[in-house]
Amino acid sequence: MMENNFNRRDFLKVLGWGGAAVALSACGNTSVENGTEFVTAHSTEAMPEFAIPGVYVHYNSTCAQCDGGCSIVGRVREGRVLKLEGNTESPINKGKICGLGQAALQAHYNPDRITHPMLRKGDQGETITWDQAFALIKEKLTEVEGSEVAFLTGATSGHTGALLKNYMDALGSAKHYAYEAVVPSVVRAANKKSYGVEMPRLHIDKARVVVSFGADFLGAWVSPVNFTQQYAKFRKGSDGMRGVLVQVESKMTLTGANADRWLCIRPGTEGIYALGLINALGAKGFKVPAAAASIARDYTAERVVQETGVSAEHTEKLVAILMQRTPSLVLVGTAAEGYAHGSQNAAAITLLNHVLGNVGKTMVYPASVPFPQITPKVGGRYALHALNDKMAQGDVKVLFTCGSNPVFTSHTSLNFKENLQKVPFKVVLAHYRDETAMEADLVLPLDSVLEDWGSSVPEYMAETAQINIQQALSERLYPETRGFGDVLLALLKQRRPAEYDQYEDFYAYLRDAMVQNKVALGASSGTSDDIFWRDTVSHGIIKLPATTAKVSGKLAGIPSLAKLTLPNASAVDEAYPFHLIPYTSAHVRDGRHANIPWLQESPDPITTIVWDSWIEIHPTTAIKLGVVEGDIVEVASRSGAIKVVVYVFKGIHPDAVSIPMGYGHEAMGRYAKNVGSNVFKILDSIFDRETGELALHETRVKVTKTGQKVRIVKDEGPYGGGQAGKRIALRKTTDKVNLSKEV
Ligand code: SF4
Repeated sequence: MMENNFNRRDFLKVLGWGGAAVALSACGNTSVENGTEFVTAHSTEAMPEFAIPGVYVHYNSTCAQCDGGCSIVGRVREGRVLKLEGNTESPINKGKICGLGQAALQAHYNPDRITHPMLRKGDQGETITWDQAFALIKEKLTEVEGSEVAFLTGATSGHTGALLKNYMDALGSAKHYAYEAVVPSVVRAANKKSYGVEMPRLHIDKARVVVSFGADFLGAWVSPVNFTQQYAKFRKGSDGMRGVLVQVESKMTLTGANADRWLCIRPGTEGIYALGLINALGAKGFKVPAAAASIARDYTAERVVQETGVSAEHTEKLVAILMQRTPSLVLVGTAAEGYAHGSQNAAAITLLNHVLGNVGKTMVYPASVPFPQITPKVGGRYALHALNDKMAQGDVKVLFTCGSNPVFTSHTSLNFKENLQKVPFKVVLAHYRDETAMEADLVLPLDSVLEDWGSSVPEYMAETAQINIQQALSERLYPETRGFGDVLLALLKQRRPAEYDQYEDFYAYLRDAMVQNKVALGASSGTSDDIFWRDTVSHGIIKLPATTAKVSGKLAGIPSLAKLTLPNASAVDEAYPFHLIPYTSAHVRDGRHANIPWLQESPDPITTIVWDSWIEIHPTTAIKLGVVEGDIVEVASRSGAIKVVVYVFKGIHPDAVSIPMGYGHEAMGRYAKNVGSNVFKILDSIFDRETGELALHETRVKVTKTGQKVRIVKDEGPYGGGQAGKRIALRKTTDKVNLSKEV
């Protein structure tokens, strides 16, 4: 620890929770940039000068509500975090954050947080101390081989990622599973094959046309705050020409609702449409490389209309605009990758980008951090399936889970909950008593993100490479919670004391790891450790030079090109006639944020429904089924059934129905429990043929009336009308919206 200095946690400890005010004095301890007051030296300055009751202090940190990697500024007064905003220094979010990011406050102050370590005693949990918890873990680990220990997390990066890797190495286990329920795993694999990189940097702002195959980049896809800002520039355009967005999908997303043209496509035929566009471009004289032309040759205009349901007129308009306006940008989203042939869909769509000459212009090589120990280990559903297999075989004797709720997000046919019972000792690090924590033998309570220290490396880099610093904005609300890094450090001290006993806590480890590499991180060798660390924490970001590498624009380098064949639209399934589209809510996401009341209260941007889940059904389908808005229906797949309330909506293909993910918790907390239905439970075990990833959109369902009815609570009013009959703002259905004549 630095001489004569306080670290942030010590600083707050001295003040005491709810005690004296925390603020910087006006004598040189603050700086004002762009009209915003920033702390420049909170971790190193002598404290008494800061205590000015009623004065705000701003601290930079990192949002961890999703993997977007936005940097935040917390406004803190008298020790309490009152408001979060975006850090203007971040190349990703440039001073903005989304509603989900804002809602981190209610995760921090949530009344349902776990406050003490809990040990299972029969059906009950008994409060124990951290010393008892770590002693128990040590005892259990002595009874098993290191290779029988598994760790399930979400995506990891930064210094907790490095510590986790070291811990698994110390155990002698290769069983770290990075699991995310909804991530673009198939697209990553297709991008790698097609462009040579999993997550290219996108220039939406420089494109004249964007064709998005179900990428909800304004909603919940990859880096929505960055993409929203790019989209604003794209719409404004340059040279008097604004960008045109065409969204191709079966269920209207927020991005689809903002598009110039929303093309409703038959579920699963996105790849066919992409190859049809290539064929049509060639037919109109566009110079299509021979390899691509030969693959697309069979996708004639007639076949495309028949398979996809998109009219020839709209395709012709789209082809015309793609030929007139360059560069364009084609995106592969969740909708296109969610089928058994998702990899083939994605490959066809990436091929369209090559044909249009976008690779290297609006899709470029991303910057990357030159420290492999802290680079992201991205997650996918296949990781859960791999762990599940090991548990089923009895190969896991001790399981740690952190940042993940697989009992809630796994599909029933995986039997995850049953296989979990085969693990003799289960340790869950969690904020809430969620469905997975309810199955644990030992529950360890985590700090909120606003209480914890950390670092992270975003998977999607917007401009330069960056390392984000997460600093504690507040003292712990509950003294017996711990950060993930602190828990890992304590576990490592059990295995490698000579290496880790020197660190008092994770903060000390993080600081040391950063200052040891300060020159590689951009500081001059003459900069003192204290100055380097103070600047790093104050800014909340370390920016590293952008890479000069280029994405591959050569078709010949795409290994899967020769095998690119797409199945026709799936045949009618008489027993289960509808494609089920599980929809990623921008609010509760995969359900991890369902216990945040602000997010339950925020109207869904498409349906405006609050505090419930629903099923979107096209009006013609609703007539056939004899259902109207508010009817409760049973939605049954071959794997299970749930009940949901009907929302009749023109923004969905008549062959499909859509239900948002993240609702239907049976535990977790007062705001999440028994709100809506859990669509994960009825997903069938159908996988992408190339990657093995669960095909999220491949499940077929039937919909049956139950005879029950409720009034949906939604912002647009009970019957889709104006505000209490005042007709102040009217909602237009998709067929009445005045879409661009061009497309
Ligand atoms: S996009 Fe993600 S990281 Fe960025 S502010 Fe929103 S929730 Fe936070």
